[in-house]
Amino acid sequence: MRSRIASCTCGQLRIEVKGEPQGVGVCHCFACQSRTGSVFAALASFRPPYTVYGRATEYLRKGDQGASYTFRFCPVCGSTVFHNEVGYEDRSVAVAVGCFSDPGFPPPEVSVYDCRRHGWVDLPQATVRYDKDPD
Ligand SMILES: [Zn+2]
Ligand SMILES: [Zn+2]
Repeated sequence: MRSRIASCTCGQLRIEVKGEPQGVGVCHCFACQSRTGSVFAALASFRPPYTVYGRATEYLRKGDQGASYTFRFCPVCGSTVFHNEVGYEDRSVAVAVGCFSDPGFPPPEVSVYDCRRHGWVDLPQATVRYDKDPD
């Protein structure tokens, strides 16, 4: 099975995932914008098992629909590398697409919080758009 490694900027925190992503999406919500420092987050979810190398600092954030997410970022360089939905750690992990450093990574299928998308951000035509979070 194909494996991929996502790494923070300094290389201290890495996660190895196996197989193809369950889904790839972008999120334009303000929490993702401030978390990444970019104008949207690009995330790919993978099924366990996965392996984490290095130390992570955790940040717990409650989503609009009541779900909680544990974000894990590198305490040295600050990259947010991956996160889990609390209570669903055994089902999937969401990894920041940019941490794979792979411009050939599969494109997003969904766009979440499209209502907060910056006007100049253009998405592939086939991307399914949700005004907010469809969950
Ligand atoms: Zn780092
Ligand atoms: Zn978001």
